[in-house]
Order: sequence, then C-alpha cells, then structure tokens
Amino acid sequence: MKPQTTPNKFGGPASRETRLQIVQPIKSIDELASFCKRRGFVFPGSELYGGLSGFWDYGPLGVELKNKIKADWWKKFVQDRDDVVGIDGAIVNNPNIWIASGHVGSFADVLVDCKRCGVKHRADVLINDVLGIPADSMAIEQMKEIIEKNNIRCPACKKGELTEPRRFNLLFKTHVGAVEGEKSTAYLRGETCQTIFVNFKNVLDTARMKLPFGIAQAGKAFRNEIAPRDFLFRSREFEQMELEFFVHPQKLNDCPEFEKIAKKKVLVLTASEQVKKSQKVTEMTFGELAEKVYVKSKWHAYWLFQHYNWFLELGISPENLRLREHTKDELSHYAVATFDIEYNFPFGWKELGGQADRGQFDLTQHAKFSKKDLSCFDEETKQRFIPYVAAEPSQGVDRAFLALLTEAYTVDGDRIVLKLKPKLAPVQVAVFPLLRNDAKLLKFAQGVHKGIKEKFITHYEESGNIGKSYRRQDEIGTPACITVDFDSLKGKDVTVRDRDTMKQKRVKVKELIEYLEKILQSK
Ligand code: ATP
Repeated sequence: MKPQTTPNKFGGPASRETRLQIVQPIKSIDELASFCKRRGFVFPGSELYGGLSGFWDYGPLGVELKNKIKADWWKKFVQDRDDVVGIDGAIVNNPNIWIASGHVGSFADVLVDCKRCGVKHRADVLINDVLGIPADSMAIEQMKEIIEKNNIRCPACKKGELTEPRRFNLLFKTHVGAVEGEKSTAYLRGETCQTIFVNFKNVLDTARMKLPFGIAQAGKAFRNEIAPRDFLFRSREFEQMELEFFVHPQKLNDCPEFEKIAKKKVLVLTASEQVKKSQKVTEMTFGELAEKVYVKSKWHAYWLFQHYNWFLELGISPENLRLREHTKDELSHYAVATFDIEYNFPFGWKELGGQADRGQFDLTQHAKFSKKDLSCFDEETKQRFIPYVAAEPSQGVDRAFLALLTEAYTVDGDRIVLKLKPKLAPVQVAVFPLLRNDAKLLKFAQGVHKGIKEKFITHYEESGNIGKSYRRQDEIGTPACITVDFDSLKGKDVTVRDRDTMKQKRVKVKELIEYLEKILQSK
C-alpha cells in the first residue's frame, strides 16, 4: 500500500514532515535490542571482553528511562500512600534467610545438557518451544518422558542428544570474609522481598504503622538463570520493585477502596481454561475476580488493579495486557494464589509482573528459623496472630522497561518514533539553533535553552541539520523540539515541533514554558 499524503499549501507534494505514513509496531526483540544499543539505551554487559551472558549495562538514555520508571513506581506505590513505607535492604544476607524462605531447598529450574555441544537448556522452555506444551509446572519425570518420547534434540547444534533432566538451584553463591568455606557461604538475594519480611518487626516498631499496611523495596536481584534470553526479559542480574501488603488474617476483605475499583475491567486467562488447554481469555471486572474466588481476598484484587492500572497510566494499551491465573500445580511453595500480569511481547504473551497471595508463609518461616516472635497483638481479641500477606505486587524494572519500549517503538513511514509518555522520556525538550556558525543566533538559542532548563529535562545541540536533529529526537522519544532561526532574533519567538503530529508552531519566548507544559500534558 502506498503511504497516504496530504498536499502542501501550494498544492504540491507534501514535505517529508507532513506525510501521513503507515505506522508499524516493532517486529522482533532483536530489532529492539539493536535499536537500544545504537541509541545508547542498553549495551551488552562486558562487551569489550566478549560479553557475559545474562548481564546488561544501561547507557546514558537507558539509565534515565529506568530511573524514571523506578521513581514513578515509588511515587505511586509508596510516597502517594499513607499505608506503605519503604526500605532498602542489603543484597548479601545471612544464608539462613534463604534457607528459611525455601530458596536454598527449592529455588530451582530443571536443566538438560547437550551431550554433543554442551549447551544447557531449561527443560520446560525447551518443551514449550519445540512442542508448544506449557511445561512450567511439569514434574521432572514427565519432562524426561516427553523429551525421550519426542526425541527432542539440542536446538543449538540441532543434533545432540540431551542428558536426563536435573534440578539446578538459581541462587548465586558468594563468600563473606577472608576464608572461603562452608561457613562463609552467602547468597546474593534471589528476590527483594525477603529483606522486607526479615525487617517486618523493625518497621512495625519504628514507623508507627498499623495493619493493614505495606512495605516496599526496589533494588537488585540475582538469579543464575540457565538460559538467559530475549534481551532484558530474562537476565541474571535485574531489578525488582516489590511491595508486601500485610493484613489481619481475619480481615482479608476489609478493603475500604475496593468499590472504587470493582467495576474496572481486565482480560483474564483463568487457571481452569489453562487446565482445559483452551487458553480462552475472558473480560471480567476486578469485582468478579474477588467474588468468583479467583483471588482469595478483596485486598488481592485491589492490588492487582493498582499494578495493572500503573501500566495503563504509563501508556500501555489494555489489549496488550492480561492477567493469567497460576494453575494449582504451578503455584510456588509460598503462594496461596498467584496472578501474573502478562504483556504481549514480540516473542508472545509473557510474564511482565506477578502478584502472589503469600498467606502467612514467610513470617511463619522466619519466626520458626530465627526463633523470634514476629506476631502482632490484636487489641480486640487480646490474641497474638501472624500477619497475612494478602498481595505482593512484584515487578521487574527491566521487564517494565522492555514492555514500555516495545509499546512506544513505532516505525512511522521513514522515521522511528518512541512514543513515550513525556514523564518517562529521557529528554523532554530539545533546543537547536538553525545554524551552528552564527554567534548571534547561538547566543539567542543558548538563552532560550537556559530559560527552560530548570523546568524540563533538556538537550541542547548545535548540529546545523535540523531535519536530522528532529529524527534523532523522535527516535529517543523527545516530545518537543525547539528551533531558533533568524526570525527569532527579531520576533523573540521560536518554532516548537510536536514529536507525534510533527506539527510546528511559532511561540513567543515569553510564553514558551506554558506552551511546552501544555504539549507535555496532552500526551
Ligand atoms: P519467570 O517465571 O519469568 O522466571 P518468576 O515467576 O520466577 O519469573 P518472580 O519470582 O515472580 O518471577 O519475580 C517477580 C518479577 O521479577 C517477575 O515478574 C519479573 O518482572 C522479574 N524477574 C524475575 N526473573 C527475572 C529475570 N531473570 N530477568 C528479569 N526480570 C526477572
């Protein structure tokens, strides 16, 4: 199909800037990865030395976007609320934390090796890729049978036979102190939430919080993933933003704001549809989620909405999001019920974030292993009880980054545009003088830049090629560009160009901040 065009004001063909083009989304995760490298969002980790699989370095633009995602999450889930406080725990902890949590014993994936080329594969992923059968919750014996029966070979060398499946623990080990040995073994945290549980009493005693309340944390987590893949989706070092919401076990449905969210709709893939192997997705309300007992409590439904809605607010379209209920076999050892928030990634529907009802598992375990009392006192009944974690919004920063970039990345005719929300854009306003060798023009442009710099995140560039500069800013998602030309010197005005519509408007310098604020808010 030929691109539609609108004629210019003299009836001739439209300029490149005013053509209406066919807009295409991203085609593959590799396209996004190479874009991220080219524009300085994300680089392969240790690239200079041949790389290290599963590790990534964020570049100048990537770190800005990532920090904004984290700041927005922290504002919405912690600072804007009266019932949540934050902590920032250590990455290396006493190993007993990870024994009590069950991670040393059972935080494992099933692995097979190629007998020919030695490449290791995650058995469930392999079965899913080759046969299209979800194998997340499959028993190790069943995986063995399926691999043998279907004569599945190594997908890397296409020939090699595979070893018998075996369990592989994902915790990274390290040693604390000068002497290496059994006693010095420690683990890099495999998830951020455990330092929340072990600090529950400290927070309760110091922050004057009363149930129901939440403790949040954002920070690094480490998993020695068998097969890191799909760019940032599955890496060995990543960041999580997690919130544990503690309630009285007899008050799981005392959620004052529930009615406000009960009528909001969402697409859901229920456990029963998955057991039937139908994969049928149903639209339901968050109220129905709670009433039909897909979740155990109103608090869980309430937090699922908050988590889901955060993505909508950041610009992800509801068609690309759904909830997926975990089947009974798939539930983690600590979970009463779990829903994943899935995103329609270029490589299929996959977990973006997750939310488990962890019941009383973690505090009970830590009380048992530490021999410390982690219970609370109920003033009404005069009895002690272990608080109940009704919901745990758990979000990987890197997966959020990936989903937001996927959603924003648009090929619009011959330009790439990153349609990020202005609050996430690494640069909000770029300023260009028309030429780079005219002292008066440069001075005026620098003055314009200085005048807006404190209000917006800006970029100033003396490139001398405005068309190219616009393209570069479109690619990194800059919502507005300002060009200073010779008329600006006389009229004290500039041209402001909108990233999405490419429309240009002449604006007086003294009205610039107000106008830019309007553009940024309109997106
Ligand atoms: P998966 O099934 O994809 O391995 P998970 O269910 O083990 O993920 P959780 O333990 O629930 O993940 O972790 C919470 C969140 O942390 C995930 O929803 C995801 O956003 C992020 N996350 C988990 N593992 C990784 C990883 N290896 N790389 C990047 N992000 C991750």
